[in-house]
Amino acid sequence: MIDLINNLTEEINSLTAHDTQAAEALRIKYLGKKGVITALFNDFKNLDSDQKRALGQPLNALKNLAADKINALKEAASVAPDESVAGIDLSRTAAPMPLGSRHPITLVRNEITDIFGRLGFTIAEGPEIEDDWHVFSALNFAEDHPARDMQDTFFIGRNPDVLLRTHTSSVQARVMEHTQPPIRIICPGRVYRNEAISARAHCFFHQVEALYVDTNVSYADLRQTLMYFAQEMFGPDTRIRLRPSYFPFTEPSAEMDISCNLCGGKGCSFCKHTGWVEILGCGMVDPNVLDACGIDSSKYSGFALGMGIERITNLKYQVKDLRMFSENDKRFLEEFTSAH
Ligand SMILES: [Zn+2]
Repeated sequence: MIDLINNLTEEINSLTAHDTQAAEALRIKYLGKKGVITALFNDFKNLDSDQKRALGQPLNALKNLAADKINALKEAASVAPDESVAGIDLSRTAAPMPLGSRHPITLVRNEITDIFGRLGFTIAEGPEIEDDWHVFSALNFAEDHPARDMQDTFFIGRNPDVLLRTHTSSVQARVMEHTQPPIRIICPGRVYRNEAISARAHCFFHQVEALYVDTNVSYADLRQTLMYFAQEMFGPDTRIRLRPSYFPFTEPSAEMDISCNLCGGKGCSFCKHTGWVEILGCGMVDPNVLDACGIDSSKYSGFALGMGIERITNLKYQVKDLRMFSENDKRFLEEFTSAH
């Protein structure tokens, strides 16, 4: 009987079936009531106990093999390919689908708005095509300020009152016109300037500005907010310093430096060996701006700050050439896939 079992094992291993009917026929042939293997089990009953001990295990194995094999043939036959997919390997795993990544400017913008969000600032947005009032006049720009010149600003058509905003401060003006304090907003957005494109300058870039107007807002509030932002963005060891500066819409005005995040303030080529890098402009909102936007400057005061997102991104990721942000080179963008 053992030879018979061995021969049948070999035979079953090489079985094939073109469709489910053929597989069913095989089941009847081997495992049916009058099947070959069923007959072996009937013979087995008449064997003496020594033979039973020797043959029980191989016989059971043969039965299981036949059942598994025929089931597998049935399954394969039931999903048998029709003509349209002949020659296509349906069992092959799908090719990996590359996931997109967020643009580094978006990543850093989200990080900045998150930090200010934790301080209670909400996002405000405004149009990129603006008028003179919201970009310049309401913000205390003098009639002859150079920013109003064609050299610096893109005007649309011949109308000097229609232009691409040169800063997101225009959103601050729009919010102040329609809202009474307390105002606590952050304005991220794209801005445009008439500049030759190079590694260090571009005709469009991105800014985030923050504005806080309420009773008794002081320079100390501004400094504390700046400190919080710098340490959240660049790490708890970051130090800040404020240098006097000038902007038409703030008085007093300052520029903020942070301790170089590459060398920790010791001095390196990135910070030109000063230990400091400039990151943003800020100041107390000029009372003229509050009054122009319909807010009583004798009652309220405020601070504003603004930064270029590209600048912050450069500091965080050491991107050497501004143009890379708008070239959409996949190799560059993919470097930020796992940045956040
Ligand atoms: Zn440095």
